[in-house]
Amino acid sequence: MDVTEILKNLNESQEQAVTSDNQHLLVLAGAGSGKTRVLVHRIAWKVQVENISPFGILAVTFTNKAAGEMRDRIETLLAQSLRGMWVGTFHGLAHRLLKMHWNDAKLPENFQILDSDDQLRLIKRVTKSLDLDDQKWPPRQSQWWINSQKDEGLRPDNIREDKDPYLSVMVKIYRSYEELCNRLGVIDFAELLLRALELWKNCPSVLAHYQNRFKHILIDEFQDTNSVQYQWLKTLSSSFSDVTAVGDDDQSIYGWRGAKVENILSFERDFKETKVVKLEQNYRSTSNILNAANAVIKRNADRLGKNLWTDLGEGEPIFLYSAFNENDEARYIVENLKSWIDQGNNRQDAAVLYRSNAQSRVIESALLQFDIPYRVYGGQRFFERLEIKNALAYMRLILNCHDDVAFERVVNIPPRGIGERTVDAVREHARNISISMWSAAKAMIVDKNLNTRSANALAAFLNLINEMSNTLEALPLSELAENSIEMSGLIEMHRREKGERGQSRVENLEELVGACKNFTPESIDTPVLAQFLDQVSLEAGERQANEDQDAVQLMTLHSAKGLEFPLVIMAGMEENLFPHKMSQNEPGRLEEERRLAYVGITRAMQKLYFTCAETRNLYGTDHFNPVSRFVRDVPKEFMKEVRLKNTVIRPTSFSTNSRISDSGDLTGFELGQRVGHHVYGEGVILNFEGNGPRARVHVSFEQVGTKILILASANLQSL
Ligand code: ATP
Ligand code: MG
Repeated sequence: MDVTEILKNLNESQEQAVTSDNQHLLVLAGAGSGKTRVLVHRIAWKVQVENISPFGILAVTFTNKAAGEMRDRIETLLAQSLRGMWVGTFHGLAHRLLKMHWNDAKLPENFQILDSDDQLRLIKRVTKSLDLDDQKWPPRQSQWWINSQKDEGLRPDNIREDKDPYLSVMVKIYRSYEELCNRLGVIDFAELLLRALELWKNCPSVLAHYQNRFKHILIDEFQDTNSVQYQWLKTLSSSFSDVTAVGDDDQSIYGWRGAKVENILSFERDFKETKVVKLEQNYRSTSNILNAANAVIKRNADRLGKNLWTDLGEGEPIFLYSAFNENDEARYIVENLKSWIDQGNNRQDAAVLYRSNAQSRVIESALLQFDIPYRVYGGQRFFERLEIKNALAYMRLILNCHDDVAFERVVNIPPRGIGERTVDAVREHARNISISMWSAAKAMIVDKNLNTRSANALAAFLNLINEMSNTLEALPLSELAENSIEMSGLIEMHRREKGERGQSRVENLEELVGACKNFTPESIDTPVLAQFLDQVSLEAGERQANEDQDAVQLMTLHSAKGLEFPLVIMAGMEENLFPHKMSQNEPGRLEEERRLAYVGITRAMQKLYFTCAETRNLYGTDHFNPVSRFVRDVPKEFMKEVRLKNTVIRPTSFSTNSRISDSGDLTGFELGQRVGHHVYGEGVILNFEGNGPRARVHVSFEQVGTKILILASANLQSL
């Protein structure tokens, strides 16, 4: 393989960045200008031309998906495997370090990662044990506060309380929570990073080892690093290492999670001899799309500023569709996806992006009706679903019966007669003599500290876990999983549950066994079950079932960062939804929402749709939101508003349960029927909504446009 291959398809500035022999490099450029491409090619350049061993390279990306793609791309470019290279997210890399140096990091060997649900439960427990009123000290708020402190690198001892009564309570909660985590041998997400940083600070020999190893560090999406991550990077890099960071200040969208866009500015100061490269040509989007993005982001005040251009031509206008309600919006989205697919395009080249997870449900159900396969990234996390978490808890106990979080979670699921009081007693005993709940339960049974019924029930649970653990060595992973859902009675419990919900839980559990079948372990030294559980904790949400199937992609705007799709639909472009209503009174948050809009628009390569709804039922209530300011910021010349004709083109198969299907017979009117109204004149019925006295009808009137009327009082005349 020769050098020209690596430099092929790079413009001059990109080539400069790829081949730069400055010690440090900062690529600061707008969306779609090839930052990630530069990173990939620079790694290839180092390996191929500078003869650097992949073993000495550390690459950091924002998601596990991006990490996988990066490795693939470099391997393809070099036609060789890069096993020694570390590529991952900050969290993934930190986890890997802690696994290797658990002793120096003062962790038990088989420490477990807490997801945010489990974390919240522990904080609730702490709040209770400190005798604090959880109305006054909401655990969710404490959770957020503790995580923010960790993101800043602060331990309870580093926080100056200054006699502030609020702070002193928070610090107390933080301290007790920390003690509890240490006792249980569990660590939350923010802790992964902080612990890894402290490992280096406290163990110079470990740090020296990695400084010697990773002399080449490269980071993508640098604008979204937080304080701990930045310190981690600074600590790892030594006088003889080189660091490449690429980012875009306009795409900083994780301020709410502690990310510091200022790190871009600090970089030049902290890393001497940094060469700064700017890239200005966008290779991703048509000029209509790029111009729209530029028009939106232009309104932010604090920007480093840049000019992006494209030579991909104008392309199609951006389509704007104002639906009557969220169902009509979903219908429009799905129809357009369908025609995209019917034209021979891949489903996975189309993405629907939304601000809040809850928006996906309606779109999902429309996709299901039309039989369009789809995949949801983030949010509706498979591995965070209740039934899956229960099954995983059993698997954790098989691996390590002293895992208290798992123990507490499933000791009485399915119900086996172990009451709250018994669990409290076991927990209390465990705490008093500093042993695990498992050991405490065992001791209490032997010592006859429990009434016979509870003791029997508890003993049966312990036997069950013992029985399952006996097969740990003998059985393949998928059979271990099968055992945990069968022998525990979990699957039977959901089979007996009525309706679709139980059905979907059973399917999910079955899918878990499928996931185990497809799992490829990375090492031969650790039990496969342990590796699987670790991967699950790290990747929760990023992995979906049916990896190989061609499917339309659904995700939040946040999780779309760094990705690109020929067709993008941004749904729910309404005030209060996007920008999110929480952000509207804070200028900083509003700017972040605007950057999120910029991220969304710049994901699109050829076709972009904005959709919104005049009325929207979300979280159980109706909202009437005006169209988003981000849509209004796009000059008309780049956009085309799609209007429904005065005829109804709704396919008959699209009849969601409560709405249209029964409306005809019950109301005496039909879709598409011409009607008269005593004030608005003549019009056409476009939609029905709801049942009973609150049933509403959408009528497109010739004189006054579309109105939504209460059917019972509208007094419509058939014409
Ligand atoms: P984002 O800010 O969204 O992360 P980015 O700056 O990382 O974007 P890339 O994803 O690296 O941009 O590149 C955007 C698209 O442009 C990709 O499809 C990439 O392959 C293509 N591209 C980048 N540079 C060139 C080039 N010189 N010639 C042809 N295509 C290019
Ligand atoms: Mg990128």
